[in-house]
Order: sequence, then structure tokens, then C-alpha cells
Amino acid sequence: MRIAVVGAGIAGLSFVYKLLRYSKKSSVDVHVYEIRRLVGLRKHCAGIVSRSTVYELNASKFIENYYDEMYFLLWDRVFRLYSRYPFAYRISREVHEQHLYEETRDRAQYLFLKRVVDIVDRGNTVLLKYRDLIDGSLRSDEYDYVVISEGYPNILAMKLGFNPVIEVFTGIQYEVESDRRLSLSELRRLYVVYGLNEKSSFSWCIPLSGRRLLIGLVTSLRGLKAIELLDKVLHRWCRVLNVWYTKRFLYGGAVIRGYPKRIRLGRLFCLGDANAMVKSVSCGGLAPIVSASKTIVEYLMGKEKEAKIHEEKLKKMLFRQYKLYRLLCFKGLKLLMSRAPMNRIEFELKPELYDHHDYLFMRILIDTALHRSFV
Ligand SMILES: Cc1cc2nc3c(=O)[nH]c(=O)nc-3n(C[C@H](O)[C@H](O)[C@H](O)COP(=O)(O)OP(=O)(O)OC[C@H]3O[C@@H](n4cnc5c(N)ncnc54)[C@H](O)[C@@H]3O)c2cc1C
Repeated sequence: MRIAVVGAGIAGLSFVYKLLRYSKKSSVDVHVYEIRRLVGLRKHCAGIVSRSTVYELNASKFIENYYDEMYFLLWDRVFRLYSRYPFAYRISREVHEQHLYEETRDRAQYLFLKRVVDIVDRGNTVLLKYRDLIDGSLRSDEYDYVVISEGYPNILAMKLGFNPVIEVFTGIQYEVESDRRLSLSELRRLYVVYGLNEKSSFSWCIPLSGRRLLIGLVTSLRGLKAIELLDKVLHRWCRVLNVWYTKRFLYGGAVIRGYPKRIRLGRLFCLGDANAMVKSVSCGGLAPIVSASKTIVEYLMGKEKEAKIHEEKLKKMLFRQYKLYRLLCFKGLKLLMSRAPMNRIEFELKPELYDHHDYLFMRILIDTALHRSFV
């Protein structure tokens, strides 16, 4: 079976890793097309994932820190989520991508600096046209299946009819070095603030190691305006944590919210940011990517029934999370919450529920409402 993968970001790489792991005995010929010169190296993502995602990504060697407490600030309400075991982990994304590449390159052929320009599903094969960016030539090759993991902008995905519901935001963060060492309890604590100056925005503060912190922002603002807002957010977080920074380093990229309508179209599959596979509340893409990679491998291994069930489950989950994010932008909810008499709620978070923001938020809202009716 000949398979082409378009894009060697985390979606493409984790799909190739899964495919080669599950197809040990059957012969698969995998070609990965990538416009960049190398994989890894690029810093853009915060790298916060659940325990199951660490396992699925084969990333336990790349864990930098773990967290068992989260302060979630929703307007003027403070929710403290705690757990006896870590529920979230920070992985070093660029080193991990490099590792996935090294793990797979013996069995998959990586074609760097090749931009895929067109894909035509002919029914029994797929014709993939690409430009070799070294000599500028236009070539083509024939495959049984093609997996599109081009990230954003999702030009091929849209052209081929995957048409996910997709919203694009700026995601930027400062990695800062603080002037004091964080205590052990501070190091295990995540902070998230929802609804800053505009309804779709949120910000986070992630301790990385003794003196390093990641302070980030998702916003609909672009360019300098987004950076100005991040500067304000940075100062606010520094005040909250009572630290000052000595150095800072800015990185980020496009952050997606939305949900996929389909994962498969005939002999084509679409995965990752290209198909809006994100938990819209937190904009986390890695958990849906590993889940969808597994589903695509099931399709390719002929397990149609299981694959269809898993596809539906993932689509529904991402759809619910998108609706939830829309609900959080809804002014009426803010009003409702502001009527609750208390402003701090605590509850235990089971680590296995970390990826299920829809469930978690419902729990938060119900707890708030119940508390209100008891007071
Ligand atoms: C600031 C920020 C923080 C984030 N934090 C988290 C987090 O904490 N946890 C989490 O789970 N997610 C997080 N995310 C989201 C996560 O990073 C993305 O969902 C994920 O990286 C998407 O991976 P991808 O492989 O789909 O896309 P990409 O990483 O964009 O990869 C696409 C690849 O395809 C290549 N390509 C594109 N077009 C073509 C073409 N025509 N031909 C050949 N190659 C092509 C590109 O060069 C690129 O290498 C964050 C994102 C940002 C920006």
C-alpha cells in the first residue's frame, strides 16, 4: 500500500509513527512531503498535554514538568482544580518532533522542500502533484491513500472539500526567566484566565522549571496589537506571582478553534489544524491529533467499523467543545455567573478527565449554580 502524507508537523509525524507501529507485518510505503528543510526546531506551541496523550505520542522522555493544580479564572470567579496525581504534562515539542522523525525515517521516506500543490482522487488511486522547491520542477506521483496534515492555512483541505468549521486566532507567548526560584507548589500549578479584554481571548501562565515561565495569550488581535496585549498580560501575571523577569523570548503561531465535519473523503484523509481538530476551549490540538491518527490507521488496516465509531466520537466531542467555547463568549453567562454569591470554588479533577473540557465546564457551571441555590 502506497501512502502519501502532506506536512511533517506533529499531525503528520504522529500519524506516520502510529501507522508504522501498527502495520509492522504488512508492507506500507510511506512518503512524507514537507516544505520546510527540517522537522522539529520550530518553537510555537506550549506543549501541555494529558497523561494519555503523552503515552500516545510516545513522549514520556520529553516531559519537562507536570501539574496537579490549576487556577482557572472565569471573569471574576476563581476555580481551583486539584488532583492527587498529575493531570497535565509539559513536553518539549521541538525535541519530541525531532524524535518522532528519527523513529520513523528508516521506514518512511521524507521528501523535504517539496510543496504539494494539488491532489486528485481518481477513485482507485490518488494523483499527487508537487513542486520540488530546490529545482523548481513540477512532478507527480500516484498513491493508494493521501493524508493531508498541512496545518493552517488549510488550502488543500478546503479545496478537496473537508470544509471544517474553522476560526483562526493569534497565539503568542513569552518564555521568561524570573528573578526568583519558584517553590515546588508553584511549579506544579497552572493558571488560566478566560475572557480578558475581548470575549474570545484567554491567557495562561505555565511554570516550566525553577526560574522559567511561559506566559501566553490567544487573541483575535493581530501583529503589534497582539504583542501589546501580551506585554500587559505579562506584567499582570508577574504581579500575581510576585516575580520579575530578566529575559524574555517571544514565539507563537496561528491558533485554531472549530471542529471537523469529516475525517475521510474517499481515498483522502485530513488531520490536525488543517481539519480544525482542536479542543476549542483551550485550543489544544495534540489530543485530537493522536486520536484521529489512530482512527485513520484503523481505516487503512481495514477496521472500517471501529474506525467509523471512533470518527463519530471524536467529531461529536470536538463539536461539543466548540459549542462550549461559544457559550463562554456569551454575555448572558457572565451575568449569570456574576450573581453567584461566592467567588472561589474548588473541586477535585480526575486526571483522565483533563481532555474533556466539555464535561469539566459543565461540572464547573453546575457546581456554581448548585452552590448558589444552597446559599
Ligand atoms: C501558541 C500556541 C500554543 C499552543 N499550545 C498547545 C498546547 O499547550 N497543547 C496542545 O495540545 N496544543 C497546543 N497548540 C496547538 C498545536 O500546536 C497545534 O494544534 C499543532 O501543532 C498542529 O499541528 P499540525 O501538524 O496539524 O500543523 P503544523 O504544525 O502547522 O504542521 C503542518 C506542516 O505541513 C507543512 N505544509 C503545509 N502546507 C504544505 C504543502 N502544501 N506541502 C507540503 N508541506 C506542507 C508545514 O510546513 C508544516 O510543517 C498551541 C498552538 C500555539 C500556536
